[in-house]
Amino acid sequence: MNPVIHSLPKLRIGQGVDVHAFTAGDHVVLGGVRIPHTQGLLAHSDGDVLIHALCDALLGAAGLGDIGHHFPDTDPVYRGVDSRVLLRHVMQLLAGRAWVVVNADMTLLAQAPRVAVHIPQMLACLADDMGVGVNQLSIKATTSERLGFVGREEGIVAQAVVLLAANA
Ligand code: MG
Repeated sequence: MNPVIHSLPKLRIGQGVDVHAFTAGDHVVLGGVRIPHTQGLLAHSDGDVLIHALCDALLGAAGLGDIGHHFPDTDPVYRGVDSRVLLRHVMQLLAGRAWVVVNADMTLLAQAPRVAVHIPQMLACLADDMGVGVNQLSIKATTSERLGFVGREEGIVAQAVVLLAANA
């Protein structure tokens, strides 16, 4: 290995993206927070697109595949599952390999509902599940200026980037 790379701290970056479509319903769950809405999100689980993107970023950084590999949507065990359970499981996988989270930065793309007011509660939920400080997490929300499927209120997109460090 290149000696410069060898001397760097053992850090790994990961990114995750998830999309869920709207369907009939009266609420969405984002970042572990139940938000009343005129539609729900179509999913095998609770449809928490933000946690799914975060889990994929965490798994990707650790080289552990993706959320579909660990929690297949063909498995009835995961029907309607609280995605916070999945996040806590992913954190256990990382801890078992001596990875700690340095920080995570996330973005929600949603025309509706308005999510910004719920961000502090989402941060508290995620920090609790991940065993990190709220100051290690960031959640941003944006609309798509009414463009594309997000703008037509057909679904929600979430993106996450995480940095892991070896706990050595
Ligand atoms: Mg998903």
